[in-house]
Amino acid sequence: KGDPRLQAISNAIRGVCSSGEKTGIMFQDITTLLLDHKAFKNTVDIFVDRYKDMNISVVAGVEARGFMFGPTIALAIGAKFVPLRKPKKLPGEVIAEAYELEYGSDCLEMHVSAVEAGERAIVIDDLVATGGTLSAAISLLERVGAEVVECACVIGLREVKGQRRLNGKPLYILVEPR
Ligand code: AMP
Repeated sequence: KGDPRLQAISNAIRGVCSSGEKTGIMFQDITTLLLDHKAFKNTVDIFVDRYKDMNISVVAGVEARGFMFGPTIALAIGAKFVPLRKPKKLPGEVIAEAYELEYGSDCLEMHVSAVEAGERAIVIDDLVATGGTLSAAISLLERVGAEVVECACVIGLREVKGQRRLNGKPLYILVEPR
């Protein structure tokens, strides 16, 4: 997209070869991005510039790395932050959405009272691969009547970035793995 900040963001993300990795997809470690104040700030700023005037009242972050970007974006755009958590972490009344992984399945939960029908939401995570996690997040928000305006990730695998949509929802991605 020609934004010079994106190259520095990409450079700040570390690719780690996890042992036993068969797919050839390296683990993308955003903790090194968090160490780089300028790149971290630019990452948040790009999302804030995009969403600040879109009447968003909910920023939903996916555990755990969505929690590292979501709250600062929510504060800056004047929205609430809603954590989407792994099972049995949230103490209140929850709804749950299971999703498939390559081996087995996982589940995300959301407090039912956190979001009201008609609210405009974005979903934030660090990375989208198959899109299964974001699809579960979209379902949780839609089940309480929220409108998911877009899903936003720092990193998107090339195949996913190519489609630019997820369950009919726009997908906004800053960089691809190097
Ligand atoms: P998916 O549901 O397949 O789109 O996977 C996305 C979720 O899994 C996100 O919460 C990511 O944090 C995590 N994830 C998947 N693949 C990677 C990877 N190569 N590096 C880091 N995190 C990953």
